[in-house]
Amino acid sequence: MTEQLNRDLLQRWDQEDELAGFREQFHLPDNLIYMNGNSLGVMPRQALARAQDVVGREWGNDLIRSWNINHWIDLPQRLGNKIARLVGADEGEVIVCDSTSVNLFKLAAAAVRMQPGRSKIISEPGNFPTDLYVLQGVEQFSDGRVQLHTVEREQLFDAIDEDTAVVVLTHVHYKSGSMFDMAALTARAHEKGALILWDLSHSTGAVPVDLNGVGADFAIGCGYKYLNGGPGAPAFLFVARRHQATLQQPLSGWFGHANPFAMRDDYEPAPGIERTLCGTTSVIGASVLEVGVDLMVAADMTKVRAKSVKMGELFIALVEQRLQGLGFTLVSSKDSAQRGSQVSLRHEQGYAIMQALIARGVIGDFRAPDILRFGFTPLYLRYVDIWDAVEVLADIMARGEWQSSEYQVRTKVT
Ligand SMILES: *Cc1c(COP(=O)(O)O)cnc(C)c1O
Repeated sequence: MTEQLNRDLLQRWDQEDELAGFREQFHLPDNLIYMNGNSLGVMPRQALARAQDVVGREWGNDLIRSWNINHWIDLPQRLGNKIARLVGADEGEVIVCDSTSVNLFKLAAAAVRMQPGRSKIISEPGNFPTDLYVLQGVEQFSDGRVQLHTVEREQLFDAIDEDTAVVVLTHVHYKSGSMFDMAALTARAHEKGALILWDLSHSTGAVPVDLNGVGADFAIGCGYKYLNGGPGAPAFLFVARRHQATLQQPLSGWFGHANPFAMRDDYEPAPGIERTLCGTTSVIGASVLEVGVDLMVAADMTKVRAKSVKMGELFIALVEQRLQGLGFTLVSSKDSAQRGSQVSLRHEQGYAIMQALIARGVIGDFRAPDILRFGFTPLYLRYVDIWDAVEVLADIMARGEWQSSEYQVRTKVT
């Protein structure tokens, strides 16, 4: 970033921004700069009307008939097909259901089962906790058949071997924002006969993903981050078409049956992606999620990525200019090609500084032990917001505001 940065220049960038029109589709509270869309996306304006409609009319009036007349029964597939367009998958390869954690369990267990004679699940230390915990669960339930190996990312490539059943990685790291080379690692896994499962929680709606382009086997992802689906929104999963007929997942519930309403005693998996379903769809959550997904599908992912990269570079440049010598270090890669849609800084007093920042209306978040995270969501964040956020941060540091005792106490959710 070589241009002389000032607020007027950034205002001009906002005026010229082709995505600027999306901002009014979101509800943004006054006097708030929201840089936490990587954790919980903001509410699309239409979400409120959709929630009212699905609760008031579809549930309230149409009741059980809604499964057919309001197409509740098709929600997982319909929404899955929309998300498929964001991640480079085909129709019938993505479905919306359950939570990210549950979907990981289903697919990791299925992958292990597809690889008899191979004993390793490979992931990285410091992966998102639920991913490691779920994989530890898969390991335990295998009764010694498979073991989880966590390998530092620099050694991952070489660690994938002929004994590897499945590699499970998060494409964009939740803490550092580091982005894996999905194509190279997928190719490496396949070269060794291993399967690969990508967690796209911090990728979907943030960076372009081409699952079929790289030949990925499985993927999972989150609905409430960059897809703006609302707290606890259902998640999604991807199974490449070539694996669908043989995939056996452990949570063989009635929604995954070939004919759920035949009410037979014996389980017979649905032929396609539906076999990954377990129980009844969270209809209210999925209906609200659809509003966020529709907005994301309407945006051009190439433009979203270009703006996200520009925002990240702007933030880093401003931090370097305004926060020199104040104890901050850049955790995320300076190379945009290796970074998702967030920038993380490290500071010894990270927790208190973030509390002071939130009190001044700039919401990022904190991840133990010392990381401040700032997420960039091109559909509703402006370049001037980034300028203003760094100004507030510089002011907090200059005044030592973070030292106030109220900012030292940790809340239950950080
Ligand atoms: C947010 C996130 C999850 C969330 O899992 P839940 O089941 O929705 O709680 C899982 N994995 C990663 C990498 C995440 O970033």
